[in-house]
Amino acid sequence: MRSPGDIWKSRLSWRITLVVFLTILTVQVGIMSMTIADYRQKRLDEISESARSAIVPLIEERIQNLLTSPISEEEARRVLETTRISGFSVYSVDFNLLRAYGEPLVTRLALQNGYQAKNRLSGDGTSYEVIFRPRNLFSRPFVIVVKIDSSSVQQQVFDYVEQNILVMLLMSAFVTTVLMMALGYWLLEPILFLRSNLMRASENPENPRVERSPFNPTDEIGSAIDIALSLIKQNADNIKRIKSAAQDQIHKLAYFDTLTSLPNRTLFLQKLNEMARAQGAENPGRYAVIALDLDHFKDINDSMGHNVGDAILRGVAKRLRASLPEQAIVARSGEDEFAITMPLTGKAITSRDVADRVIGVIRAEPFKVFNENFQIRSSIGVATFPDDGVDPDQVLKHADIALNRAKEDGRDTIKEYSEDYDRAVQLRFQMLRDLRDAMEKNQLLLYYQPQLDLKSGKVIGAEALIRWWKPDSSKEGGHFISPAEFIPIAEQSGLIVPIGEWVMKTAVETAMAWRQAGYEIRIAVNVSGAQFYQSDIVAYTSKILRESGLPPHQLELEVTESVFMEDIQHTITILQNLHNLGVELAIDDFGTGYSSLSYLRQFPIDRLKIDQSFIRNALQNPDDAAIARTIVALGHSLSLKVIAEGVETKEHEAFLQAQNCDEVQGFRYSRPIPKDKFAEFAATYNGDINSFNMN
Ligand code: C2E
Ligand code: MG
Ligand code: MG
Repeated sequence: MRSPGDIWKSRLSWRITLVVFLTILTVQVGIMSMTIADYRQKRLDEISESARSAIVPLIEERIQNLLTSPISEEEARRVLETTRISGFSVYSVDFNLLRAYGEPLVTRLALQNGYQAKNRLSGDGTSYEVIFRPRNLFSRPFVIVVKIDSSSVQQQVFDYVEQNILVMLLMSAFVTTVLMMALGYWLLEPILFLRSNLMRASENPENPRVERSPFNPTDEIGSAIDIALSLIKQNADNIKRIKSAAQDQIHKLAYFDTLTSLPNRTLFLQKLNEMARAQGAENPGRYAVIALDLDHFKDINDSMGHNVGDAILRGVAKRLRASLPEQAIVARSGEDEFAITMPLTGKAITSRDVADRVIGVIRAEPFKVFNENFQIRSSIGVATFPDDGVDPDQVLKHADIALNRAKEDGRDTIKEYSEDYDRAVQLRFQMLRDLRDAMEKNQLLLYYQPQLDLKSGKVIGAEALIRWWKPDSSKEGGHFISPAEFIPIAEQSGLIVPIGEWVMKTAVETAMAWRQAGYEIRIAVNVSGAQFYQSDIVAYTSKILRESGLPPHQLELEVTESVFMEDIQHTITILQNLHNLGVELAIDDFGTGYSSLSYLRQFPIDRLKIDQSFIRNALQNPDDAAIARTIVALGHSLSLKVIAEGVETKEHEAFLQAQNCDEVQGFRYSRPIPKDKFAEFAATYNGDINSFNMN
């Protein structure tokens, strides 16, 4: 027994026991109430028998006179004094009262009731009147009614009931105790055992410390316990299995790339750190750390679909893995980026050698996807651990910096990390800080470059170009920083969004001022891709137009082709919404990007802007001339206007006139100039050459 106290605390046992106790009690009370009448009757019979034996000797055997009582006064008094008889009446057999002695009797016999009359117990049970007929009196011809004092019988019945109740209680208590113990042993103990095991299992289902069942498994409760215990164990096993599978899965997702099954950047860095830590004095190993980026992968992905892109990534992963020794770690570190590290052991190989091998492997032959060949090129940045940093993260960062250099250098090339690169990065950060500062100090301003109708020579538009005047200690008090220098940094940092908004607001206000002065000039504003994706350019443009009151067609937004390639559907939607505002749209630097002609038709654009490089070289290079010519023809066939930028000379102008180009912009007419000078230019320009070439 676990603990005897437990039994007495068990509510279940108490309930069962109480029910049993009450049942026994009820049954016993039932039995007793049935026997009680019997008992009393027996006692009454006893006293009437003794009364009879006192009466009978008084009646003589030979009776002469049947009309008088055979019992004399004397005899009667004696009987009344010495026995419990307190009175009696003597009747003849035909129920004539012959004589009454002692106390009067309730029973009165007559011929009408004599035969049916019965013995009678008084209401309080203290007297009992018995009728003795001739058959009770040895056939003597009298009927005698005797009143007997029966109070002793009443007492006897009370004693009987009392005794019985005591026995009943004792019996019930005994049965209850035995039952409680039996319940405790066969029912409660197993249930408590089960309960404590279940409780432990629910507290720690994964590692339930269940005990072995000491109960007989062949009885119902024992077998139920066995089943429950085995379920608990099964449950624990299941949880463990599910947990470990989930952990594996999480580990895989956290550390491996699902597409290529290669380690990801996190795991790569972890391994690199492990390798660095394993580095001891006796094992001064060096490692090549390579960052690789697939050239123009985005274009393939966007133009051929993600299936093709994914297949190429898998192909590259497989090729890299197969071409490098087992100790090398190949990871996919970004969308189209891979990271590789390899111990530089044995033959005097360098990181550069590894990079050469890698770039060669990618170039070696095209990747075949869906029966199409894709010639893939890659840009590679190389760093060496520990030469380029004792911190592995740092070394990978240096490889990334070198990779950026390789990309800036026209891609399809390898760059080894040099400290100069770091300095370049530092300078960029410095410039970003300065640029933020410049915004706050209003060092940014807009210049405007005229755009002319090539047929009429009229000034019809102006391109707003940002200028950063950075004060310094020079004679001039400052210098201009080229947008070509700071716009890319602003784009990378997201700073382009507030800058772009400022540009649009200022340019539109300027155009509105000109309009109020009587010049209807279309204002062209350059918009970066980041503004498309990081802000709600549609809402902002609409707000600016509303606030300024400028007619929407007098605002043109210039976007470069690269913007279109980010997310074509999204771009089309935004352009559509802008167009719905009534704003004009132009593709800037057209011809240098990857515009797909099929998409071009879906864009709601108004104008193509031929990139200045084609105009600059058109006169010397027949290819560039052909491209310029084709762009004009293409634009016209799509009912678009075509504007040429970078028109510097009369010859350029003549060439464009020959191609039937619509509009021009360039130093031949004017450099970008401040807003007031522009109004002057518009007022004085006579449609002739080079009349206002200043700045
Ligand atoms: P873009 O939009 O293609 O602007 C034309 C660039 O060509 C301007 O350079 C302009 O000064 C220059 N240019 C104009 N005519 C001639 C010419 O006859 N010969 C030569 N050699 N160059 C000419 P800028 O102002 O230095 O701007 C460079 C680029 O910076 C712009 O190229 C544009 O992409 C970007 N940019 C300028 N302002 C903004 C701006 O407000 N927002 C954004 N997102 N980008 C801007
Ligand atoms: Mg432009
Ligand atoms: Mg341009």
